[in-house]
Amino acid sequence: MPELFIDGRWTAAVAGQTREIRCPADGAFVAAVDEAGPKDAAAAVAAARDAFDRGPWPRTPAAERARLLLRVADLLERDKDALARAESLDTGKRLVESEYDLDDIANCFRYFGNLIGSGAGDRVVDTGQPGVDSRVVHEPVGVCSLITPWNYPLLQTAWKVAPALAAGNTFVLKPSELTPHTAIGLMHLLAEAGLPSGAANLVLGAGPAVGAPLTSDERVDLVSFTGGVATGRHIMAAAAPTVKKIALELGGKNPNIVFADADFDTAVDYALTAVFLHSGQVCSAGARLLVQQELHDAFVDELAARARTIRLGGPFDEHARTGPLISAAHRDKVEAYVAAGLDEGAVLRVGGKRPDDPALRDGYYYLPTVLDDCVPGMSVVRDESFGPVLTVERFRDEDEALALANDTMYGLAGGVWTQDAGRAERIASKLRAGTVWINDFHPYVPQAEWGGMKQSGIGRELGPAGLAEYQESKHIWRNTSPRPQRWFE
Ligand code: NAD
Repeated sequence: MPELFIDGRWTAAVAGQTREIRCPADGAFVAAVDEAGPKDAAAAVAAARDAFDRGPWPRTPAAERARLLLRVADLLERDKDALARAESLDTGKRLVESEYDLDDIANCFRYFGNLIGSGAGDRVVDTGQPGVDSRVVHEPVGVCSLITPWNYPLLQTAWKVAPALAAGNTFVLKPSELTPHTAIGLMHLLAEAGLPSGAANLVLGAGPAVGAPLTSDERVDLVSFTGGVATGRHIMAAAAPTVKKIALELGGKNPNIVFADADFDTAVDYALTAVFLHSGQVCSAGARLLVQQELHDAFVDELAARARTIRLGGPFDEHARTGPLISAAHRDKVEAYVAAGLDEGAVLRVGGKRPDDPALRDGYYYLPTVLDDCVPGMSVVRDESFGPVLTVERFRDEDEALALANDTMYGLAGGVWTQDAGRAERIASKLRAGTVWINDFHPYVPQAEWGGMKQSGIGRELGPAGLAEYQESKHIWRNTSPRPQRWFE
């Protein structure tokens, strides 16, 4: 069966090309999927445009849209095992982590289904003028291009597809060319749930050939993108000539700040998951550890000792605690950052190389790595390596911790560990980041907005603001008893 989904039909790429997908854990062949080009992208946009301008979905009552989203959530739960397996084969991620993601994905559809079903947002405006009926209503933005990365493929997709559909938009989805399978699965479920033809379209393929046309086509009203900051800048520029609405979820270089009064065992434990979860391929990874001077030696000794014991393995290895990097090219990039850090004076405490285990030879593994004695300005501190690499910096007091934490072009997330509630609140209010965790790291819920300050992005996903990204507000003013104004008399 062909894998592009355009105007309600499964179709092959016009140019007849395919791409091989291989599992990053062992290089095993997964499948060959259709590789779209600009013509397929244009056809998908045309279908979404027509479905928006003439199709039923934008005119479907909110309660019915809500029902469809809740039905999709049920179908995701029904197919959880198959989808989690597909996600793990594409990404190399542990199966159990893909299963957690699937739960979150179903919850995301449920959250936006319930939100739109509650009629949230529309409001009557008191103008203070008799005889005027004034209200603000919300309408869909139009045709949305949704472009997603490979690290949490279906989760990042759900954060866009669920609110886009809840608001009544039509869309073209382009997932990462490396991880297409769960996007294909989702299209099947949307069709099964009864979404009208043309409302959801899927094109697969490379960013420049298929993603780029989706960001410049004048028939597209909104681009929502999750990925790297360099691509985000391209997309902003490509969307400018036609003044599209844009939502950008970009990278992060997130600080994890540990004060000497933190609970030692808990803070060490979370510092590990903050950075090494999914081998660091997490936009909110706590990749910059800032430790108070007097705690530094004991903390980093313990952290390095525990990092050394983290077991690597493929999706179905029940003993593994983290998996491979997504590709050989990505591992090369991570290695280059570690080499540059060492050149610039960082001290290697653990890792810094590929594992010796011959069983892992065919995958793109890299050992959990801790670089101590780091300072601002090192490229490994400044840039997002997006791998299992922790840099450690020391600070003396609260002011220095904050200065180091905010010394980044990014502003996605950050964590602080302390038993001093006042200090925790001061840090939380001064950290320039879209999410702050106090004595925790990584959790999120669909009810709360997610997104970045500074160059980590524009706009928010999840929460009421995540729905608002996909809506236009319209003020309707009705004068119920018009009379001549005689302004010019
Ligand atoms: P990427 O920017 O290389 O690619 C993301 C997507 O954009 C892919 O689908 C790709 O094909 C497409 N693309 C590439 N060039 C394009 C172009 N010129 N026009 C349109 N589309 C194009 O990112 P990636 O390597 O897939 O993902 C990793 C990055 O994503 C990291 O920087 C990470 O921090 C970020 N990310 C951010 C969040 C968040 O919530 N802020 C979440 C996950 C990942």
